Amino acid sequence: MNQRELFLRHLGQTSAAPMALEIQKAEACTLFGADGKEYIDLIGGISVANLGHRHPKVIAAIREQLDAYLHIMVYGEFVEAPQVQYAQLLTRHLPASLHSVYFTNSGAEAVEGAMKLAKRATNRTGIIAFKNSYHGSTQGALSIIGDEYWRNAYRPLLPDILHLEYNHFPSLDHITENAACVIAETVQAEAGVKPPSPGWMQALRKKCTETGTLLILDEIQTGFGRTGKLWGFEHFDIVPDVLLLGKALGGGMPLGAFVADKKLMDVFTDNPVLGHITTFGGHPVSCAAGMAALKALLEEGWIDTVSKKEELFRSLLRHPKIKAVRSFGLWMAVEFESFDVCKGVIDRCLSGKGSGRKGSGRLERPDPLVLTDWFLFASNCLRISPPLIISAEQVKKACEIIVEACE
Ligand code: PLP
Repeated sequence: MNQRELFLRHLGQTSAAPMALEIQKAEACTLFGADGKEYIDLIGGISVANLGHRHPKVIAAIREQLDAYLHIMVYGEFVEAPQVQYAQLLTRHLPASLHSVYFTNSGAEAVEGAMKLAKRATNRTGIIAFKNSYHGSTQGALSIIGDEYWRNAYRPLLPDILHLEYNHFPSLDHITENAACVIAETVQAEAGVKPPSPGWMQALRKKCTETGTLLILDEIQTGFGRTGKLWGFEHFDIVPDVLLLGKALGGGMPLGAFVADKKLMDVFTDNPVLGHITTFGGHPVSCAAGMAALKALLEEGWIDTVSKKEELFRSLLRHPKIKAVRSFGLWMAVEFESFDVCKGVIDRCLSGKGSGRKGSGRLERPDPLVLTDWFLFASNCLRISPPLIISAEQVKKACEIIVEACE
């Protein structure tokens, strides 16, 4: 049996038609297939590889930590330098009220922890989320995602959840003193890159403050420069009560976090003690990698390149089959008439078939391929969320391939 057959046989599957690409190596913005093909990576492991794959400073930090220790104790007991230093670096780049970091293993776990925090801190039970929002696949996170198709098969889920219309001013009237928290994506990701219109985030912030409801912003995709600023909320001139981080947080290693004021976070220390527990959360190697990635992201100035590259993509993604391009930074949804049209384009980008490309070449030779994907709640939209380090040449080549694949 080859690797692909073993993958299908021995790994739990999540779809009847996985991409099943076998990648041998990943470097910067390129994936190298086991079959010798090269792919320009336009999705970065779904908004994870903001600094590209295997950045030398991240690899060096991982190696250094490997020589010190791996797992030594459950979260929250030992003073582990990688956690402490990364929390300090993160909070140095956040507003003063966001100065206590709880590290988890994943984005969904950060969502779970933040919901528990909100219930304890407010003594309320209601949770408000938004239609077409995605927050993860664990049962709590699943309860608040905003699409019935994805939730329904797993009922019963968490009670006392209200889903409101995102970016809709009258909906805000439903936020009352019953709600422990409102959880919102700063820009809706899986809805196909949908930012709120001017004033809405500020109105949401105001309503939460008036009702004593915690505002939890999910920046698991919008964080770490994706939108052209370090944090998405900076575009809206507001500060959340709790910030959710994941994906690029670990520099390619698994890591999530929720960040809040220390007074809020301290609810987990008492009645019951150990109010939120994780064995591996804030793994030292993940924290070392994440800290090196954030330092490099800031020192090397990649966030400043985002809007130019966004414009370049937008100027080149033109074809009668492309109905619209929605973008918010180096993050875009290329909209087609239907899922079938979109999937056809994705498949041709990946195989080169039907576009005259053989996909046999290397980047320096003529024929790379392009890896992209669709969105969970916008399956007619092609996902572009590349490493922020993508070069102008790669952007041009990738757009050329996408436009050819539209034919
Ligand atoms: N929140 C958002 C906005 C996400 O995009 C995701 C994952 O795609 C999550 C939460 C869940 O993160 P994880 O898959 O690490 O659990």
